[in-house]
Amino acid sequence: MGGPEFLCGIIGHPLSHSLSPFLHTWAFARAGWPGVYLSWPVPPGHAEDFMRAVRLLRIHGVSVTIPHKEAAASLLDRVSPRARAAGAVNTLYRDENHGLCGENTDIHGFLAPLRRRAPARRALVLGAGGAARAVLAGLKEWGAASIGIANRNGGKARTLAGEFAVEAVEWERRAAWGADMLINATPLGMSGGEIEATPFPAEAFRGSGLAYDLVYNPLETRFLREAGIAGWEVQDGLDMFVEQGLEQFRLWTGQCLPEDCRSEVRALLLKELARREREPER
Ligand code: NAP
Repeated sequence: MGGPEFLCGIIGHPLSHSLSPFLHTWAFARAGWPGVYLSWPVPPGHAEDFMRAVRLLRIHGVSVTIPHKEAAASLLDRVSPRARAAGAVNTLYRDENHGLCGENTDIHGFLAPLRRRAPARRALVLGAGGAARAVLAGLKEWGAASIGIANRNGGKARTLAGEFAVEAVEWERRAAWGADMLINATPLGMSGGEIEATPFPAEAFRGSGLAYDLVYNPLETRFLREAGIAGWEVQDGLDMFVEQGLEQFRLWTGQCLPEDCRSEVRALLLKELARREREPER
């Protein structure tokens, strides 16, 4: 009949803003791979029920997002060293020898734009949620010499600092810490929320450095704009999003899409984001 042979999808709650269905549906078509990608909104506390369904229905691959990234790890046959390092799983895939496996491709995505750079001397993570876990694991893998974490709720920063053996920095002292790399792992600056907010005061960008925003809508946040004006290099969050998704695609299909597909999908995602801004309820 020629219908799809592999069932993949995303679990999380809420899922209405996720771009993963768009990205993977595009990737499956681009590669001519016979898969279908669906959205499964699974409320908090129901990851275990969902995992039973994954095994029963032979679901081939799953993207995992908030609030299930941490719970998923304990429900799998094998968890990769990276996902273990992050304490969070964002991808389920099947392996002939190991069964249902968990990976964290956010670390791969975060590191992708940094590959050709020398590790930061002092990297400060702003935010202490799920994404900050992947960032901290990535910074350690990359070899950043000194790593700090600051969060509005200081208790959460101290917990993650203890878990990852990095320095907890008071939120009020983040500007004085002397970072040469700042990573925004909060939603500040995001469209639909506090778009004109920033996690770092403009006047505190001193010397040179790299500002890396995990937010990708808009592509140029206030944080990146002010960093650029101060002479810092900037990195938006869209490359991370694309790379974490293409790594999921590789785990599910065994295929790598050609290098030139990155600019193609980046352009398509930007168009899709603009469409969603114009037609929010579709
Ligand atoms: P999360 O688990 O909800 O954590 C959000 C963090 O932001 C918390 O530490 C929170 O601090 C902080 N925060 C929220 N509002 C704040 C405010 N008004 N002022 C100061 N801090 C505030 O979210 P997440 O999953 O870590 O995601 C964080 C961001 O990264 C989101 O924008 C998400 O879209 C983005 N992200 C991007 C990618 C990518 O591929 N580019 C991947 C993952 C996530 P409290 O603890 O004090 O509440």
